[in-house]
Amino acid sequence: MGLIVQKYGGTSVGDAERIRSVARRVARYRAEGHEVVVVVSAMAGQTDHLLALAAQVADLPDEREMDVLLATGEQVTISLLAMTLIGMGCPAVSLTGFQARVCTDDAHTRARIKEVETERIRTALGDGRVVVLAGFQGISPSGDLTTLGRGGSDTSAVAVAAALGADACEIYTDVDGVYTTDPNVYDRARKLERVSYDEMLELASVGAKVLQIRSVEFAKKYGVPIHVRSSFSDAEGTWVVEEDESMEQVAVAGVAYDRNEAKVSVRGVPDRPGIAARIFGALAEKNIVVDMIVQDVGEGDRTSMTFTVPQADLKRALSVIEPVAEDLGTAEVSADTGITKVSIVGVGMRSHAGVAARMFEVLAREGINVLMISTSEIKVSCVIAEKYTELAVRVLHDAFGLGGERPGGSA
Ligand code: ASP
Ligand code: MG
Repeated sequence: MGLIVQKYGGTSVGDAERIRSVARRVARYRAEGHEVVVVVSAMAGQTDHLLALAAQVADLPDEREMDVLLATGEQVTISLLAMTLIGMGCPAVSLTGFQARVCTDDAHTRARIKEVETERIRTALGDGRVVVLAGFQGISPSGDLTTLGRGGSDTSAVAVAAALGADACEIYTDVDGVYTTDPNVYDRARKLERVSYDEMLELASVGAKVLQIRSVEFAKKYGVPIHVRSSFSDAEGTWVVEEDESMEQVAVAGVAYDRNEAKVSVRGVPDRPGIAARIFGALAEKNIVVDMIVQDVGEGDRTSMTFTVPQADLKRALSVIEPVAEDLGTAEVSADTGITKVSIVGVGMRSHAGVAARMFEVLAREGINVLMISTSEIKVSCVIAEKYTELAVRVLHDAFGLGGERPGGSA
């Protein structure tokens, strides 16, 4: 017996039959004597649909209103799931982020959770109910609706699990775990039994879409073990946990890719102190997250800067950069969306030498040009032309032996 937080993604609640199947699993856990908090996403495709509607009425939709719109998706699924549970004889109550008091900052459409006030949830659990909580949404200090960014329901689930001191946080999704790479791109991808928080953070940040990155940050900070598993079976999935020694024995745990970045180049900017601060300060002010940054060796008194931003933010980024560039008398701002960032990740990199060199060699052998590079202690990322994505993933997966067994770690 324990307190379990279960999160179900959009596909898992994609239609009435699937909602019934989620309800059966939830009811089973409760019948076994567990207290259950269920966090749900909007039905598959719903958030995209709402975003598309907004795009039809406004070029750059007001972000406060965007949150009011997007939060409706999850409100549909909490009520449907709670009704289904009640109909099955399992006492349940739905709560929006507002009702449960999932308190966030006021960064609309990408808010951060500050605190989850657990009183209302605990009272409902104490009354013997299953709590069905809307993921992805919260309430700002001024009492407005906020949303947590795409995939934010994962973070809702982990934050609630941390706040309640839950015994487990299960993330049910349409894949059965975390893989060495995207199985849709390479059929030799293997499911990992365990992956460390740090590896998962890097994998999430470089485009493995299984978990929202903030959910892993939260889990790491509060020591919440996450079990990523399939909502269509009872098979064990992947545990995202504290690092241990066996994980360090291999250099690379996974290969990830991200097609959703865009490369922006600003050419002919004055080569003097304060210019980078000006450009990136302007982006930061608009909450645009810049990933890789490269500044060229200057020529004369001019230089150029290239950086990547999420493709979804490109329009906004350009609208911020263009006036700054003009002000600086800059020659040219250009953008390229035809790129992919491919990355290798592993805590073993800390103790294995030559991993980056091997990556470059493998890509070079296939004639794949590397446009930008960035590294961290446990990751190497390369920006390449998008058309080479699949090829790069496959050759890197093979080169680092990911088709084989990972000591103590893989299925
Ligand atoms: N419904 C939101 C999205 O599609 C949040 C989530 O599913 O986690 O991004
Ligand atoms: Mg998701």
